Amino acid sequence: MVDLIPKITATIPFLLSFLTLLADVTNAYSLPMTMTMNAKHTLYDVPVSNNGARVRIILYKKGITSEEVDVVSPMEIGGLKSESFKKLNPQGKMPCLTINHDNGVSDSSSIPESDTICRYLLHTYAHEGPSFLPNSYQSNLIARIHDMYLTTIQGCLYKATPPFGIYRTRAKAIEEFERQLSIINDLVSNDGLYLVGDDVSLSDATIFPTLVFAKFMLPKFGRSGELPAKLEKWYNNVVAGDSDFEKVHQEVTSSLRKWELSGRWDQIWLAGLIDNDPETIFDKIVAGDIPASIVYSDDDVLAFKDINPAAPAHLLVIPKVRANLSGLSKASDDHIEILGKLLKVAGDLSKDASLGFSDGARVVINDGPDAGQEVAHLHIHVLGGRSMTWPPG
Ligand code: 5GP
Repeated sequence: MVDLIPKITATIPFLLSFLTLLADVTNAYSLPMTMTMNAKHTLYDVPVSNNGARVRIILYKKGITSEEVDVVSPMEIGGLKSESFKKLNPQGKMPCLTINHDNGVSDSSSIPESDTICRYLLHTYAHEGPSFLPNSYQSNLIARIHDMYLTTIQGCLYKATPPFGIYRTRAKAIEEFERQLSIINDLVSNDGLYLVGDDVSLSDATIFPTLVFAKFMLPKFGRSGELPAKLEKWYNNVVAGDSDFEKVHQEVTSSLRKWELSGRWDQIWLAGLIDNDPETIFDKIVAGDIPASIVYSDDDVLAFKDINPAAPAHLLVIPKVRANLSGLSKASDDHIEILGKLLKVAGDLSKDASLGFSDGARVVINDGPDAGQEVAHLHIHVLGGRSMTWPPG
């Protein structure tokens, strides 16, 4: 044991220098801004990111080289959720641009938002390539509408579950997405290659990647994928007539295709809008093809009297579009809003004396064979007008 003491003591300096080295490596890893880099700027981004693609269009069109702006995946510093990345952008989002100074060492500057990055680059590289800033209020307006109204709901094109911005259903968010596209369409002037004429502008760079994404995704939700007329014409023209837009088109779609092949999207489009079960008698009632004694109808919900009443008052409350809700146990997060609405309508109707309700109601959902469910379209029974026993048979 005594023999060991000098050996351990002799090891301490090595141990200390190893720990110092480890600390240096760790610091360098977690503080990329202190790393010596060749490029003046580093753009953390990956090709599938819509917002990053807008910055890349500017880089490509201005001919800005990787020595000026090097494009690096956030994975290089541990990914978006890593402490290293959050030091650059506390929001943990792409893209993010860091600025290195001429001595090769950066200060703490980083720009973490795509429009601000674009405007910084346009200013910094004003002498190279197109300005992207034609004197047109339409260009600014298109970019602003994109960022304020499209960006906030575009999650409906790729997120598995709601909310999509302020919308709790994918269908409503997609409807609003398309409405905003038609508003943008009205601002497009179709007399040149680009959105507002002959000059490429920030609006082209801003909305193009989102529309590549949207055109790929909308058909997955039963939409045509055809943009409003002026946008469609512009889109096809820039893909065919501008090699930099074509390059970004390739980058975004090839990433999306890879995700498609890996099955990544399946959980999304099976989440609520695609319904492969055969239609039931209730679809015919909703369509008005067979008569029913309807007591309530709005955009989403229909309530009618049960043809074979089990109580003096017996209503069925159903979603107008089944959207995979053949039974309650099929519900996904996409259905949370409609489920709430159905119960609210059921509760309201159960107070209506003119429908035969008196003092309370029994609200029942039969789910599956054991419960005796006959019609594979979610329906809430609202029964009343007599006192009932418990347990049910
Ligand atoms: P389940 O047993 O599936 O929970 O309930 C299905 C209910 O739909 C039954 O109470 C049945 O009487 C009702 N029903 C079935 N077909 C029709 C129809 O064509 N019209 C109406 N009003 N109710 C129906």
